[in-house]
Amino acid sequence: MKVLVINAGSSSLKYQLIETESEKVLAKGLCERIGLEGSKLTHSPEGKEKYVEEKPMPTHKTAVQMVLDALVDEEHGVIADINDISAVGHRVLHGGQYYSDSVVVNDDVKKVIKDCFPLGPLHNPANLIGIEACEDAMAGTPQVAVFDTAFGQSMEPKAYMYAIPYKYYEKYSIRKYGFHGTSHKFVSGRAIKFGELDNSNCKVIVCHLGNGASISASVGGKCVDTSMGLTPLEGLIMGTRSGDIDPAVVQYIANNENLSVDEVLNILNKESGVLGISGVSSDFRDLSAAAQEGNKRAQIALDAFIYRVAKYVGSYVAAMNGVDAIAFTGGIGENDCDTRYKICQYLGYLGIKIDEEKNKERGKEIYISTPDSNVKVMVIPTNEELAIARETLDLVK
Ligand code: AMP
Repeated sequence: MKVLVINAGSSSLKYQLIETESEKVLAKGLCERIGLEGSKLTHSPEGKEKYVEEKPMPTHKTAVQMVLDALVDEEHGVIADINDISAVGHRVLHGGQYYSDSVVVNDDVKKVIKDCFPLGPLHNPANLIGIEACEDAMAGTPQVAVFDTAFGQSMEPKAYMYAIPYKYYEKYSIRKYGFHGTSHKFVSGRAIKFGELDNSNCKVIVCHLGNGASISASVGGKCVDTSMGLTPLEGLIMGTRSGDIDPAVVQYIANNENLSVDEVLNILNKESGVLGISGVSSDFRDLSAAAQEGNKRAQIALDAFIYRVAKYVGSYVAAMNGVDAIAFTGGIGENDCDTRYKICQYLGYLGIKIDEEKNKERGKEIYISTPDSNVKVMVIPTNEELAIARETLDLVK
């Protein structure tokens, strides 16, 4: 079967066409600047030349049509007919408290995605537009919604409740949801298999460290806690997001800089994190280079990032009363061996021992702990598109 995976953002749309038996990517690409000037499609078919088309894309519907046209094009296409696509899997940011699993889209599902617009104001509307554009272009082809919040739905109230008046939970569903769920589920599942852990009760911590960063704790593959919250702003220090801060900081900046709450939130989302501390970059490669050249703020940003990850790992070990495996993933988790090593140096008290040579490896499933380490520490590359294709296949086959 061939599954088209769609990740629609507010002005972009990423896609992959995956052959589910071989799990090979037949084509992938990106529509950029949808609804803006200078929109373009970059289409990379397997075994063929990359194809770039600059053409106005006023709506996501136009973008979806361009993607489908590219997939069946005589020159740079990879399938003969749109009907060769058996199903479409959509990444949907927020499923609120309604969905703890992926689901085949129908009117009820679309209503939930819509009801969750206030919880995911940038992504959910784009996700729904992407679904409806595919429904229009591919009538009869099943559409599946894979929610980024689904994995976090197994958390207990003690983990997801904020200590604010309960009426806000009742009125507005304000609670911790967690994001990157598709990645956390995929990586924790792989960690259980790779680490030959006991499927029913193993305790796993996944550190998804990329430009967006989050961490999860799961027991027997079920999430018990995760660092992102009502929105992806909570938790670890990220590329441009602050992660945890005292909420009073919002009021303090707003009052002193004469800014609205929305404007301060924008700063916390887009101008903070390691970029905010360093003033150099949100990219860890730039930060490491700057730190090596003696830039103190870049060094503080790296140290603060590492320290925060280590603190979260410690708190999740306490929450689960132990840990069997820790898995690193995401652009930093998979590639930045120095950051990985420094995080693990905080964890010696758990009896963790790192093999420095193995830790230098990049981008593949590997143990970085020594055989006598008390906890298995590993690198597990994430693959959210493949995870979405698998979930889609499970629902439609
Ligand atoms: P992601 O959002 O998962 O794509 O991750 C992006 C982050 O991964 C950026 O901060 C990159 O600097 C970082 N990254 C990617 N490759 C490397 C590498 N080889 N060494 C260090 N950091 C890397």
